[in-house]
Amino acid sequence: MIVDLHSHSYYSDGTLSPKSLIELAEQKGVEIFSITDHDNVDAYHEIKIIQTKLTIIPGIEFSTSWNKIGVHIVGLNVDTQSEFLLRAIEYQKNTRLKRAELIAKKLEKYGLFGAIEKITKKVNINQIGRPNFANLMIEEGIAKDWNHAFKKYLGAGKVGDVKNGWLDFKQVLAAIISSGGIPVLAHPLYYKLTNSKLKRLIQDFISNGGEAMEVINGFQNPQKTNYLKELCLSFDLKASLGSDFHSPSKWNKLGCHTNLVSGLKTVW
Ligand code: AMP
Ligand code: MN
Ligand code: MN
Ligand code: MN
Repeated sequence: MIVDLHSHSYYSDGTLSPKSLIELAEQKGVEIFSITDHDNVDAYHEIKIIQTKLTIIPGIEFSTSWNKIGVHIVGLNVDTQSEFLLRAIEYQKNTRLKRAELIAKKLEKYGLFGAIEKITKKVNINQIGRPNFANLMIEEGIAKDWNHAFKKYLGAGKVGDVKNGWLDFKQVLAAIISSGGIPVLAHPLYYKLTNSKLKRLIQDFISNGGEAMEVINGFQNPQKTNYLKELCLSFDLKASLGSDFHSPSKWNKLGCHTNLVSGLKTVW
């Protein structure tokens, strides 16, 4: 079976509409699918009127931090009308706006001026995130490419990595659970934690109601997959898998084979 429980539409930093995303998922033979935009569920307002044979699991990817490290938590099967969820989303929306202004201010030192105005002038900007700053820095010749922009200015620990202000770790888990969803720890290896710190993060996640972790996030080497499978088993978590698809490219493909996590309990 092919499933995909982590993807982005243009309601966050993806490039496709929910409709195109679903059509692409159908083409790729995906059977269970979730759009998990950063800190919002706007895609699901549009999906209500889309006919599809896919099983769609409403989802969201929350930004938060754990011990001052930026962490993402996916909520699957959330009630997109839930008051708890909508309140959390409203909070994140305000935080993201204030954060964008802070990031813009910090990047002035590197010659980037009027960033917010320039970003919001573009079409299809529903939300401002670091990818918008990366693109602008490339356009203005401050960064030579995406990699450079994140490595030097926007990635973990750099000036543009403003992560304070998000709902805290416990609140994010509570919002997902209160809205009927299942909390999934997203891409556990992206946080570059030592083994023992990662285990502490997972332990804290479980203590606060976390139930699953991503064993597959996008294209990933088999060694990483094996390590994540071991972690998943030893903490008795359910496995989730997703492409973390943002836009059509050679590297980023929708859909994951469930045989990648055979032998594990799964979130679906
Ligand atoms: P934000 O939601 O503003 O925190 O932006 C984070 C998004 O930037 C991620 O979800 C990725 O889509 C994208 N991104 C791409 N490369 C990186 C990187 N090296 N570090 C962090 N985020 C990245
Ligand atoms: Mn993203
Ligand atoms: Mn993420
Ligand atoms: Mn994502």
